[in-house]
Amino acid sequence: MPSKIPVQLPSGYMEFFSSLESWQNEQQIKLQAAVDVEKAEEPQRKIAKHRRPLIITTGLQIDPVLYRQVLDDLLVFLIKQRPDIASNLEIIQKEVPDFNFPVLIARLIEQDMDYLEQLAHSLKISPELFIFALDHAIRPFLRVYAAHYQADILEHTYQNWDLPTICPICGSRSHFSRLRAEDGRRFMFCDRCFIEWETRYLECVHCGNDEPGKINYISVENDTSNQLYTCEKCRGYLKTYDERPSGLPTDLFLANIQTIYLDLLAEEKGYSNHNNDWSNK
Ligand SMILES: [Zn+2]
Ligand SMILES: [Zn+2]
Repeated sequence: MPSKIPVQLPSGYMEFFSSLESWQNEQQIKLQAAVDVEKAEEPQRKIAKHRRPLIITTGLQIDPVLYRQVLDDLLVFLIKQRPDIASNLEIIQKEVPDFNFPVLIARLIEQDMDYLEQLAHSLKISPELFIFALDHAIRPFLRVYAAHYQADILEHTYQNWDLPTICPICGSRSHFSRLRAEDGRRFMFCDRCFIEWETRYLECVHCGNDEPGKINYISVENDTSNQLYTCEKCRGYLKTYDERPSGLPTDLFLANIQTIYLDLLAEEKGYSNHNNDWSNK
């Protein structure tokens, strides 16, 4: 697969994310028995009624001791994988014993990034690295939780969720979709909790525009699977993996990272993924 990348990613970049994903999968398997998810009844109704991601409505009980264990292990993993930034990671390691874990977990679930950023500043840690480590440590827990609702979400997305770029389970913003091999239907993918939800094939996920001719798609030479859908109305774009040319599914977490060249291409053409536009969340 890497041979298709028109933009050279830094050496070891994909390998790092691939190892991280495998590590998180192992954690998720281990946590399955330890995380007690009391499945909400009729989750689709709760989502529609509150118009908020399900996890905000139901909450998720995470044992602070377990989360700390996963964070400790993740920091060890990251130091091994990324010796170039080991000294920064060790600063986080030193602070771990003083963290207020129940508060941190609550803020991570609410995605209160301002709080986390301020905390990082007060500890003199790079906010980007701090949030990366803390958030990646909670992802295996979120994936255990989200997996309980995948079937409900696939069945009921349209009628109950009108914010296609926001994950209806964990509230993270999605920038990636796939078109299913058998029927070309479109599913958004959350790289945080790993669930998918259906959205309309030809409708802008940012503004709802479905005027003929106002949604276009771009692909890069020799690669018909990875595509950019662009909207002339809001100048938004969405990256998409189309399963139809190859007939094969792909790892959507890695595909999103591997197609950074499509983000660059879209930005070059004046489109935005509206990542910083939190006002319409
Ligand atoms: Zn999610
Ligand atoms: Zn649009």
